[in-house]
Amino acid sequence: MHIAILCYFCYDVLMATQQTQAQTPGWNIVGHEHAIDLLRRTLLAQQVRHAYLFAGPQHIGKGVLARRFAQTLLCTGGADPTISPPEPCNTCLSCRKVLHGNHPDVHIISRASDKQVLTIEQVRELQSDASRRTIEGRRNIFIIEDAHEMNVQAANCILKTLEEPEQSVVLILTVPDAGLLLPTIISRVQTISVQLLTARQIKDALIQRWECDASEADLVSSLAAGRLGWAVQAVEDEDLLEERKTLLDSLVKIPTLSTVQRFDIVQRIGSDGERARAALELWLLWWRDMALAANGCLDLTVNADMRDLLKSQSAKVGSDESARMARAILQTQESVEQNVNARTALEVLMLDTPNFK
Ligand SMILES: [Zn+2]
Repeated sequence: MHIAILCYFCYDVLMATQQTQAQTPGWNIVGHEHAIDLLRRTLLAQQVRHAYLFAGPQHIGKGVLARRFAQTLLCTGGADPTISPPEPCNTCLSCRKVLHGNHPDVHIISRASDKQVLTIEQVRELQSDASRRTIEGRRNIFIIEDAHEMNVQAANCILKTLEEPEQSVVLILTVPDAGLLLPTIISRVQTISVQLLTARQIKDALIQRWECDASEADLVSSLAAGRLGWAVQAVEDEDLLEERKTLLDSLVKIPTLSTVQRFDIVQRIGSDGERARAALELWLLWWRDMALAANGCLDLTVNADMRDLLKSQSAKVGSDESARMARAILQTQESVEQNVNARTALEVLMLDTPNFK
């Protein structure tokens, strides 16, 4: 499933390609002005912290932001960071190495595809790298993607680095929600909220940077629900929209199915954590749209290509029940993120889903 394998890396590579082609200086990021402004002020004041937490929904560009920050910290392009607005030049060797993922002082740590969690061995390797001198740059930078996927042992182990950091070390953790981390970690990092983009920002970016035509950009920017990473993937990969439609078609039929049929769906999607997450994300947006449609706000729904169905179904279910379902899905998402068995969590959700024809 392409939806399931969508990741920051894809988005970063796509953004990097765009940026290399353009060769323009600067952060070159769509939106996230508040986060960039905060980081710039930190750099200008020469008060770079040892650890940051970029918190915000999946696929909105936290990974890109982390890499641009790393570029800016390591850029050898010559601009005086205390005078000019700090930004990467995107042309020096250091900037290009970070862009292409081969700078020896920038370490990306993420969950291995065959593992359920970020492991203590990965954190120990990080600590070993962090205790060494930098190889090329002034800083040793560690980007821990989806840091909430650390198990308890790994999370406790990273605390040691957060408590006694080497002078040159900068840790950047990314998470969909800061509440998913231990309070002891949160208290030792500077949290920066990374926000969803507007549909307008995404539409303009798709037209200007990815040369989309207006009608495709219209639909994709609506479906993206604020996530540029998802939008970029959708225009680059023709199958993605088709797969979204197939998965959503099977999800919207659930209220008409028997319990046995509902559990069959769980069996298909619940055995794979990534697939379960993708289905829950899609389903949450659907019930959010149902609540909006039930309140007469059909034009604000993200599933713009399915508004007729939203209109007829929401009339049957009503606003309160739609909002309740959205909350139930959110709760299931939290359970899955906290490593509760995805299949069990989905089965409970299936029993909670209303019946209607
Ligand atoms: Zn540079």
